[in-house]
Amino acid sequence: MTDEAVLLCDRVEGFADPVAGSVAERCDRCGESVWVSPSSRRMREESGLALSPVCRDCFPAVVAELPPDEEVKVHKLTADQIEELVAEAKRRRGSE
Ligand SMILES: [Zn+2]
Repeated sequence: MTDEAVLLCDRVEGFADPVAGSVAERCDRCGESVWVSPSSRRMREESGLALSPVCRDCFPAVVAELPPDEEVKVHKLTADQIEELVAEAKRRRGSE
């Protein structure tokens, strides 16, 4: 079993309006700028895991490199992340 854990992120390019408070970090694979939201940063800190940001373009390669018998685990959204997404949806609705 590998311990590699990544944070799936949207690239900054072409995604001008991320969740409020998002900061740009670098994709661990291609070096492109990606958005990391406040709740994801908190989750990373609290988990104590390295959680490298990886953009959506690079994510399939990360999965493809796993040994064939490796189980891909997807963490559920944290309550914090869900709250952030709801607040973001409300903000967008309010600005229409
Ligand atoms: Zn990438």
